[in-house]
Amino acid sequence: MKQPDFTEIADLIDQSHRILFITGAGLSADSGLPTYRGIGGLYDDADTEEGMPIEVALSGDMLRQRPEITWKYLLQVERACRGAGFNLAHRLIAELERLKPQTWVLTQNIDGFHRAAGSQQLIEIHGKVGELSCPKCHYEMIANDYSQIDGMPICPRCHGVMRPNVVLFGEMLPEPAVEVLHREMMRGFDLVFSVGTTSVFPYISQPVFEARKWNAKVIEINPGITEVSPFVHYKLPMRAVEAMEAIWEAMGQPVPQQQAALS
Ligand SMILES: [Zn+2]
Repeated sequence: MKQPDFTEIADLIDQSHRILFITGAGLSADSGLPTYRGIGGLYDDADTEEGMPIEVALSGDMLRQRPEITWKYLLQVERACRGAGFNLAHRLIAELERLKPQTWVLTQNIDGFHRAAGSQQLIEIHGKVGELSCPKCHYEMIANDYSQIDGMPICPRCHGVMRPNVVLFGEMLPEPAVEVLHREMMRGFDLVFSVGTTSVFPYISQPVFEARKWNAKVIEINPGITEVSPFVHYKLPMRAVEAMEAIWEAMGQPVPQQQAALS
């Protein structure tokens, strides 16, 4: 592991064709979002009013059995995040996709900020809060925020309770996203960035471990030490915005004007 050398990293980007960014809550923390562990961390160490852990309230089983409980906490989580938007790091990752068309983003974040910032080759492995679907009749709708939802969103077609297209506790990953991830992993990458994620899930840490097989370099951007820290080539112990801006400057690229969507 080496100390930050942004010129070396800029050179690596220059020499690479296929670049993967793996991103987590730390990236959106720079947008002012709470760095919760998954969707439930707003309630770290505390049970809900119903006396159950938040992981139970926000589980696929609870959504099926008592959707009013799951929705009560989904609305609370969404309200805590409302008004935030993508930040400069999201924006620079999207800009890099323009310079390097084989750039991909694998994100655990469900906030939709990568898409909003312009990333197109995007694997939202935990889904996104901005999409609702009806488990019964499969009606789909966009919900830019949940401010219009009173209690629970009801399907206009079959009057069933709708759900957000996010991975709740105890649920499987969305198959289309998994398929794209497998396909791109088979193609391999030249350079892997792990940004603002503790990498506790195997499908999040796997590309870091596969990097050796691809002969790829791995760069971690995270103020803390994580599961993958011992395995990376470069460790940038900084926040995502700070690190991406420094890399961008080292690449000789003009840093776009901010601040976009911060409320
Ligand atoms: Zn329906």
